[in-house]
Amino acid sequence: MKTIKGVKISPGIAIGPTFFFKRDQFPIPENRIQASNVDKEIARFQQAISKAAAELLQVRKLVLEHLDEDHAKMIDGQLMILSDPELISLVGQYVRQDNRNVVWAFFEVLSSYEKILQETDGYQKDRAVDLRDVKRRVIYHLSVDDAYLTPNLKEPAIYVSDRISPSDLIHIKDQGALGIISQIGGVDSHVGILARAFRLPYISHITNIEEVLACPEIVLDADNEEIVLNLSNENRKIYDERARQHELLNQKLLSAKLVSSSLDGVPFRVLLNIGFVQELKVIRPQSVPGIGLFRTEFLSIERNAIPNEEEQFIAYRDTLQAMKGRPVTFRTFDFGRDKLMAMLDLEVMHRDIAFEEWGGIRFCLDNPEILQTQLRAFLRASIYGPARLMLPMVTRIEDVLEVKKMIEIIKFRDRFPLGVMIETKLALDILEPLAGMVDFFSVGTNDLALYLIGVKRDEDLAKNYYHPIIFRSIHKIVQAADRFSLPVTICGEMASDPFALVGLVALGIRSVSVNYSAFHAVSDEIRNIRILETLTLKKQLLQEENAVMLYQLLREFYKNQMCAIPRK
Ligand code: PEP
Ligand code: MG
Repeated sequence: MKTIKGVKISPGIAIGPTFFFKRDQFPIPENRIQASNVDKEIARFQQAISKAAAELLQVRKLVLEHLDEDHAKMIDGQLMILSDPELISLVGQYVRQDNRNVVWAFFEVLSSYEKILQETDGYQKDRAVDLRDVKRRVIYHLSVDDAYLTPNLKEPAIYVSDRISPSDLIHIKDQGALGIISQIGGVDSHVGILARAFRLPYISHITNIEEVLACPEIVLDADNEEIVLNLSNENRKIYDERARQHELLNQKLLSAKLVSSSLDGVPFRVLLNIGFVQELKVIRPQSVPGIGLFRTEFLSIERNAIPNEEEQFIAYRDTLQAMKGRPVTFRTFDFGRDKLMAMLDLEVMHRDIAFEEWGGIRFCLDNPEILQTQLRAFLRASIYGPARLMLPMVTRIEDVLEVKKMIEIIKFRDRFPLGVMIETKLALDILEPLAGMVDFFSVGTNDLALYLIGVKRDEDLAKNYYHPIIFRSIHKIVQAADRFSLPVTICGEMASDPFALVGLVALGIRSVSVNYSAFHAVSDEIRNIRILETLTLKKQLLQEENAVMLYQLLREFYKNQMCAIPRK
C-alpha cells in the first residue's frame, strides 16, 4: 500500500475513482452543425463577443479608476483581439463553409493565432496571455449553457486538479464529488472554507498528481493528511468502516442542540457563517441562534457575475425566512484582489497589480451603483426577519459615514443593526470612533492575520492565530467595544481552532461565528468549558511574546481543564 502525504484543507475520508480537470484544456465539441443552423450559430458568436467585450470594458473602467492608464492599456489589447475583423471573418468562414460549430471554429482560429505569437519574441509573445484570456472568456460565453468550461463529473469521483476555483467547487458538489485533491490551495482560502461548509474532504499540496491518476481507485484520507494508492482488500474494509463512521458523525451533528451558555452558565453564542442559501438545507435552524456572517460575494461566484437586485433580494429573503426569526448578518460584497480575480477569472490580473488597498467596502463605495443595488435588495428583504448589515475591510471613519448617507437616501425602514468588520491594521487605530458609530464589531481574523503578520491566505500553511500580536489586537478590540457596550463576534477561522478558542474566551469573547463543518465541535467545546476558569489565562496570554509558547499554553489548558469531547 503506497501513501502520498499532503495538507488537510477539509476533514473527512472518501474512497473512489478520480476525475481529473485541467482548466486550460477546454473540452471543445468537434461536431458539425446543420446548414439551417449556421445563422443561429453566427448570432451566438456575436453575442458571446459582445458579452466578453462588455466585461472587459467594465474591468478597464475599474483598472483605470484604481490604477492608471498604463495598466488599463493591458485590457485594450484584449479588446482589440475581440474586434479584429480578420478573426471574426475567419470564424464565420469555418462555420459557413465547414459547418463547424462555433466553439470549435473559434478555438481553431485562436489556437492558430496563439501558436504564431508563441513562436515570436518579446512583446508579441506576451500577447499570447491576452489571447488566452480572450479565448477562455469567449468560449465561456459560448459554452455557459452547456457547461463546457466547467468540470463535468459523470459519476461520483474524487476531483483532482492543479487548483480548484470556488465556482468549480460549486459545480462539482452538485455533481456528486466525493472529495478534492489539488496541487495548490490554502487552509484559509475561500475554496477551503467552501469545502468545509459542504463537508467535502480536501487535501492540497499533492505534487505527484500523475501517480494518483494512475490508480483506478484511491482513498482520500484528509483526517490523516494522506492519499492511499493501491488499496488492498483487507485495508479496504478498514477504510470503508471509517468512511461509514464519518457519515454517521455528520448525521449526528445534524441533530445537535443549540448551545446558549458555557458549563458554568456564562451566556455564549455560536453563530454560523454561510455563503450560499443552499447551505441552510443541511442545518436545523433550531440548533443555530443566527447567521453571524453571510459572505454575499459568494453569490457572484455561483453566477460568475454580480447578481442583480432581484436575485439578491430573493437570496436574502430566503435566508431570513429559513432562519425563522433568528438574526442574519449580511456582509456587503467583499471583493478584494483574490475574490475579484476568482470571480472574473482574470488571468491578466495575476500580473503584478496590488489590489489589497482596494477591497471590501472601498471597492463598493468606489462603485456606488453596486452598493446601492445591494442596499436596496437588503432593505427590501429586511422585512422578512431580523436582518443586520456589516461592512468588510473598513479602514476609515468615512467608510461608515458614506454608507450611512447612502442608506439614508434609499431607506424605507426605520432602523437595523449596522456593524463593521475589524480586519485591517488601520481599523485598529480608529476603534473608539468606529465603536461610537455602529451597533456591533465582528473580527475577521483571516484578514487580520494577513495584514498584521503578512501571511498569504491561500498559500501559508502555518496556523497564524497563535501570534501574540493577534491576541493583543483582539484584546484591544474587546476593550474598545466594552467602553461602548458593543457586542463583538469573531468570524474568522481562528474561532474554529479548539485551542485558539480557549484564548478568545479568556479575552472576553462571548460570541463566535463559524462555518458549518466546525459549528457543532465549537458548540460542544463551549458547552463543556468553564469560562470563569479561563480568566486565569488572560494575563499570561497577553504577556507571552512567543507564538509557540502561546500555543502550548492554550493547548495545556485545553487538555487539563476542559471536558470537551475530543475532536479530530
Ligand atoms: C476574515 O477575514 O476573517 C473573514 C471572516 O472574512 P473573509 O474570510 O471572507 O475575508
Ligand atoms: Mg475578511
